[in-house]
Amino acid sequence: MADCLFCKIVAGEIPSRKVYEDESILAFHDINPQAPVHILVIPKEHIADGAAGIDETNAAAVGKCFTVIARLAKELDLKDGFRVVTNNGFASCQSVPHLHFHLLGGKVMSGQMV
Ligand code: AMP
Ligand code: ZN
Repeated sequence: MADCLFCKIVAGEIPSRKVYEDESILAFHDINPQAPVHILVIPKEHIADGAAGIDETNAAAVGKCFTVIARLAKELDLKDGFRVVTNNGFASCQSVPHLHFHLLGGKVMSGQMV
């Protein structure tokens, strides 16, 4: 989709530090990491409105994001635990309107989620 930052990353128009890629999923380092490990896992297809945009037409790609998250958690040795976050809309401070999952780990996190 035009003017979507993550679609531009998928298209290679904006560089990223990729850690995983296949035909439907891309994972790359967040440019402003909030934990020692902070990876963004995205479906390549533009799913607008975050989690609110998930439906039966894109659920397979969303499920695949979680298999990639599980794989990366092993590869990155997050055996002590990790957190997966998806922001959805204004109140959550979502800044990029293309569904993505934050994989956060490498430290003991706050017990507060918000
Ligand atoms: P959210 O606020 O949940 O929409 O998350 C968007 C994330 O994208 C933020 O954590 C940003 O740091 C990250 N981000 C923004 N621009 C880039 C970029 N060019 N490469 C990698 N991550 C980015
Ligand atoms: Zn997009």
